[in-house]
Amino acid sequence: MKTETIAVHAGNHPDEASGAIVQPINLASTFQRSADGSYPKGHKYSRTSNPNRISLEECVYKLEGGAAAAAFSSGSAAAMAIFQSLSSGDHVIVPDDMYHGVATMLRNIFSRWNLEVSFVNMQDFDEVKKSFQSNTKLVLVETPSNPMLKITDIAAIADIAHYHMAICACDNTFATPILQHPFDLGADIIFHATTKYLGGHSDVLGGIVVSKHDDDFFKKIREVQQVGGAVPSPFDCFMTLRGIRTLAIRMKVHSENAMAVARFLSNHPKIEKVYYPGLETHDGHALASKQMSAYGGMISFLYKGDDAATRNVASKVQLFTRATSLGGVESLIEHRASMEGPHTKTPTNLLRLSIGIENIDDLIADLSQALN
Ligand SMILES: *Cc1c(COP(=O)(O)O)cnc(C)c1O
Repeated sequence: MKTETIAVHAGNHPDEASGAIVQPINLASTFQRSADGSYPKGHKYSRTSNPNRISLEECVYKLEGGAAAAAFSSGSAAAMAIFQSLSSGDHVIVPDDMYHGVATMLRNIFSRWNLEVSFVNMQDFDEVKKSFQSNTKLVLVETPSNPMLKITDIAAIADIAHYHMAICACDNTFATPILQHPFDLGADIIFHATTKYLGGHSDVLGGIVVSKHDDDFFKKIREVQQVGGAVPSPFDCFMTLRGIRTLAIRMKVHSENAMAVARFLSNHPKIEKVYYPGLETHDGHALASKQMSAYGGMISFLYKGDDAATRNVASKVQLFTRATSLGGVESLIEHRASMEGPHTKTPTNLLRLSIGIENIDDLIADLSQALN
């Protein structure tokens, strides 16, 4: 089955009791045992599993072409579960441009667990190869990256990781399974902040880890989910799955609109540089064209001006909303450096846009008036 069809149908189990074509939300925290003590419907207690969570997991692992998935209460909890499935003393290689929250988690929390980490430039294969140690267990790829929209060669990094017997994990939040299939390129683990495009409406927090194989490493992730308990509520799972039903058409419009905005910005005299993988001038354009089917809805750009002048542009928008996060139907603008905190390497004249699915003329008109 094709991705668009999986997005609409996978994981939905119409209600046998009522005939409702959309699966209901089961809020129960616990499930009835039979007289013989067994669990006839397969669920025992809602932290371990519940009907809405397994529906969401089934839909996402099928979308990614994997074997199993574990849903979490946020994208950060999903990333945590991956690192918690490693051991103290292990070493991980991660990108030098990555979601700041995951970088902070590695620096501040996992350093106390003695998990070693190297932040490397994933575009420089020599640097990646040199950063391997005898205890390297996992290499993380984030492509396109946040916020610089760097494109990483998933197949090349997966090959290098496998040569060193390490797992290759991929944060597929920006691309989604509609635009990019990391498992086909060699990744072993995919994770998402479903808060973003999968949920798609800026109204539910969530994360998910998908595994290509139902293997020993995934069993550890499942244990972190079930025993650790950072799980999404049945309502959250329902909301996320509802979002996924329209993911394919949303990604198409996000990508088309972002392409048009990127072209508009790159021709604007007050813009120093535009980072969008769909532009021929972007360093990763050829690679993105190879490993993605479209370029997504995220754009960063440098304004010709200082920190204050750049923030002033953000203060002038009327249709775009000034807010962090991304992937919703509405367009957002963000001064990223002031959001990321003291470790940020993001230029202070950088603004990041999450391009929504509004009419493109309205989006360009708003940016145009804000820039003038
Ligand atoms: C938002 C985000 C996360 C973290 O997800 P939360 O749901 O906010 O915890 C991780 N990676 C990327 C690329 C993100 O954009």
